[in-house]
Amino acid sequence: MSRVEWVAGQVLVGACCVVLSAGAAVGEVAGHGAGQPPQEWRGVHCFVPSPGGMALLKRAIAEVLVPMGVNAVVLEVNYRFEYQSHPELRQSNPISKALARDLAACCREHKVRLIPQFNCLGHQSWRASTLPLLVKYPELDETPKISKQNRWIYCRSWCPLHPRVNEIILPMIDELIDAFESDAFHVGMDEVWLIASNQCPRCRDKDPADLFAKAVNDYHRHLVGRRRQTMLMWGDRLINGKTMPYGPWESSWNGTAAAIDKIPKDIIICDWHYGLQDDYPSVRYFQQKGFRVWPASWGAVKAALSLLDCGRRDATDRMIGHLCTTWTGADGLSRELLKGPGHPKRGDVTSNAAAALRACMARLRE
Ligand SMILES: [Zn+2]
Repeated sequence: MSRVEWVAGQVLVGACCVVLSAGAAVGEVAGHGAGQPPQEWRGVHCFVPSPGGMALLKRAIAEVLVPMGVNAVVLEVNYRFEYQSHPELRQSNPISKALARDLAACCREHKVRLIPQFNCLGHQSWRASTLPLLVKYPELDETPKISKQNRWIYCRSWCPLHPRVNEIILPMIDELIDAFESDAFHVGMDEVWLIASNQCPRCRDKDPADLFAKAVNDYHRHLVGRRRQTMLMWGDRLINGKTMPYGPWESSWNGTAAAIDKIPKDIIICDWHYGLQDDYPSVRYFQQKGFRVWPASWGAVKAALSLLDCGRRDATDRMIGHLCTTWTGADGLSRELLKGPGHPKRGDVTSNAAAALRACMARLRE
């Protein structure tokens, strides 16, 4: 079940911190030297704040998140940035490079790893709204015949084989790396439902797993090979839903799962699951396949703790910690956190996410 169904009526975008050089050992990831035990990645994921909310986020980091143990923030930016390379792709209320730098300095001061995120491949629309890339460059759309109102689909995808797509998005990613002074970058890639469409002259009849792996390898070549970043991505498209006990959002039912054997093992897989289960076998599966894994929870406290505890059971040195997604904007999340511990309100994404975050961080401190 997707996070969308979990919070029907809420507007959410996307599935699901920390800095290390490419190929660094886990201990190095958290800034420890040789011979010191590795530090867990204790992360929180949220959407980039409005320009006016940046001060609030900095306060929340200093006064709440760091004291509770958070040492990593994944900030999903997407198109809300003052891109210089492609100003036509800025969404409303974007943050500036100066504000990004200011946040990076705050995180550095508090030893919090800051990881920008840009959703690649999928999640190029939300409900009736198509995001700027496919509005300005409709020729990059994997499914150009689908109605402009996005009826009957989940989210649009860009075409991974279009010769112009990487020319456009990689300079934007470079801008985020520079502005946030990051050395780790999250490419999203969750919930890609539209891939290998017969509407696309380049992709039709191709293997979805090959296309998905091609996209992953393109971004890896740039991020890890050229920019020396550590690459993170959501894991759902790499999980075979026919053999694992998950639904079609948190696992792949559309033929992409075989990509797991066609991509580099130094990618950190953010394995998100939001439902309450006794066991989450994908957490072990990714480690067995050779990936570092960052289990990612959301929502109800019980489910979040169940995933966290599963990650700790049978953990190898590829288990790096726990990520709490919030699926809310940093402005609202910061306000909620600064109010202090409270009672989550039924159906309210922000207060429930804050409660799960507090519970997970408390468990990690035990
Ligand atoms: Zn295509």
